[in-house]
Amino acid sequence: MTHYVLPPAAPATLAVADTAAVFPVNRVFCIGRNYAWSAGEPRPTEMPAWFMKPASAVVPAEGALPYPPETADFCHEIELVVAIGRGGRDIDAGQAEQHIWGHAAGLDLTRRDLQQQAKRAGGPWEPAKAFDHSAPCTPLVPAAGRHPRTGAIWLAVNGLERQRADIADLLWPVPELVAMLSRSVALLPGDLIFTGTPAGVGPLQAGDRITGGVAGVKDFSMTVQPRPT
Ligand code: MN
Repeated sequence: MTHYVLPPAAPATLAVADTAAVFPVNRVFCIGRNYAWSAGEPRPTEMPAWFMKPASAVVPAEGALPYPPETADFCHEIELVVAIGRGGRDIDAGQAEQHIWGHAAGLDLTRRDLQQQAKRAGGPWEPAKAFDHSAPCTPLVPAAGRHPRTGAIWLAVNGLERQRADIADLLWPVPELVAMLSRSVALLPGDLIFTGTPAGVGPLQAGDRITGGVAGVKDFSMTVQPRPT
């Protein structure tokens, strides 16, 4: 038996909708710009950028969301999340759905001021993206042969809608994203992919009530909790 010198961290998990079962989260991949943010924007010819968050950043999208430290510009990004059930490398886009276990709605929370700083300095994005509680997710809805490719994706703050699009408007659809990532790394069971956010990202304040979701997947609501002083 392995002798751990410290108790190993419990694996990160995501609830499975309507069951007591949980999905073990392995890694979290996030896709950069993947919706047109302005009318008439040409479809990019290059695949989008990707970055990662730690699995420990995944929390249930419910209840209190702590306002993170070191930012004055804490931003929401609503995203369709895809969970990988079967790993693989060099996955063909035409076969990609067979690797997908389920779907969720998630938030790619961002310390935007730190991201702008990183962009200016040519530095890494982790301080902006990979902080505690930065990847709230709804329970996973098992695909079981059903792969939503259309449906509203939306987010409101205090009842005022800020983001709305259709997942059919993803510039690079889910199968292409799975194929792209699998050419770069071997995808593993338990990996999550945040597929990019539509226009309308904006700042959150303590006390804000966030509601959002993806039609045909899940809706959620959370409240931003003030930073302890
Ligand atoms: Mn994002």
